[in-house]
Amino acid sequence: MRILLVEDDRMIGEATSVALRDAAYAVDWVQDGETALRVLDNQEHQAVLLDLGLPKRDGLEVLRQLRASNNRLPVIIVTARDAVEDRIKGLDLGADDYLVKPFDINELLARLRAIIRRQGGQASPVLSNGIVSLDPATREARHGDVQCLLSAREFALLQALLLRPGTILTRSELEERIYGWNEEVESNAVDFLIHGIRKKLGSDAIKNVRGAGWMVARNS
Ligand code: CA
Repeated sequence: MRILLVEDDRMIGEATSVALRDAAYAVDWVQDGETALRVLDNQEHQAVLLDLGLPKRDGLEVLRQLRASNNRLPVIIVTARDAVEDRIKGLDLGADDYLVKPFDINELLARLRAIIRRQGGQASPVLSNGIVSLDPATREARHGDVQCLLSAREFALLQALLLRPGTILTRSELEERIYGWNEEVESNAVDFLIHGIRKKLGSDAIKNVRGAGWMVARNS
């Protein structure tokens, strides 16, 4: 799951990036509204954490443009404690949720899980295709009687597949969801992760579609 963080405050930006990476998200961080809009055009991200007070274009303007271009990407706006008007404006402009500074990182993580779940059309907090299930709050995976804890990257990969059961994801689609811009990706990184997940959950947890990519079965 790849997040775009738009934040001009260095300390908050750094702390948030670290916390998100620790929680198995890939994070790209930009510090002004213009860059945010340019990056959002590429549609590489699954959610945006958007500060409102930003240089060049403010967060509300970014949000307005994003929705005007019909982009449905989940957006959480971040506002100052006393900025009730901005929160209302932001929600009315199409934000999905908001956080008040200074926010608790665990609250941010829970809100992210919730909007990503809603985006996937899921009501249950546990992702499942009826065969394999994954709890985003604990990173615990289950397959039949086997239950195990996944590493951050393994979790990110299995989550990407379980959000679209029955759909083949290619190597580059998986890499895009697991790694941010500044991260070096070894050519066999995806194979390595798949191998690790299969070793823990059983080889039939993820299907390899030769020459195309990987998938988990759709719930039948
Ligand atoms: Ca700011």
